[in-house]
Amino acid sequence: PDTRERHWVPLTVDRPFDFGFLERLPFKDKVFDFVVASHVLEHSSEPERALREMQRVARAGYIEVPDAFMERVNPYKDHRAEITVRQGRLTIRKKGSWIVDRELVELYEDRAKPLFTGAFIPSRPFDFHVRHYWQDSIAYQVVNPSVDARWLAPVDDRPRPAVASVGWRGTVRGALRTLMSQSARNRAIDLAGLLACPTCGHAAVDRTTDGFRCHACATAYPDRHGLPMLYPDGTAP
Ligand SMILES: [Zn+2]
Ligand SMILES: [Zn+2]
Repeated sequence: PDTRERHWVPLTVDRPFDFGFLERLPFKDKVFDFVVASHVLEHSSEPERALREMQRVARAGYIEVPDAFMERVNPYKDHRAEITVRQGRLTIRKKGSWIVDRELVELYEDRAKPLFTGAFIPSRPFDFHVRHYWQDSIAYQVVNPSVDARWLAPVDDRPRPAVASVGWRGTVRGALRTLMSQSARNRAIDLAGLLACPTCGHAAVDRTTDGFRCHACATAYPDRHGLPMLYPDGTAP
C-alpha cells in the first residue's frame, strides 16, 4: 500500500482497517463518534462530497491540512485544494492544476523557503496548518465550486528508499504504539458491523471467504494483501 506522503513509512495495521474512497465511504450513517482526517481532504478532487461523507458517517471530527498560504507557495503534486479557516469556517479553493502561481513559487523558493522551513514552521507549526474540530456539522465554503480538480497528478519523482528500515527508534515507537493503541479493544471491533455498501449504499455487507459482498446489489469486494478493499463497484484502483 502507498504511503508516499508519509515518506514511505510502512503501513501499520493494528486495528480494523479497510481501503476506500473518502467521497464514497463504505460505512453506515453516524456509525462513528469521531472521525480524523489528517492530511487527506486536500487530496480530494471533490471536497464537497468528501465533507458530506464525513458528516454522514460521524457525529464529530478533526480535519488537518496544510494551510492555503503554504500550499500556494509550496504546492504538492497531488494536492487539489488550498484550504484555510476564516471566521471558524473551512475556506476551500479548488485547484485547476497542481501549481497555481509559478512566479510566486519561484520567488518563495529563491527568497523565503530557508526561513520558513528552518525557522518559522518548526517554531510555530500551528500557524502553517489548518487544525479544525467540528461537531454535528462542518462549517465550510468552497469559493470556486465550478473548478474541476480531477486532473491527473504528475509523476512524483521524490526518491524512494530502497529498503524501508524502521531502525531501533521505529521498533520502540511500534511497540509503544501497540501498547497505547488498546489493541485488545481494537481486536474486539467487528468491522463488518460498521460497513455499508460503497456501490449502492445498502447498510448490510456480508463477510465472504476472501472479502465482503453486498447483501442488496451483490457487488463483491475481494481482499488484497489480506486487507479489505471497499471501493465503488468493487474496483480497487
Ligand atoms: Zn497531503
Ligand atoms: Zn450494494
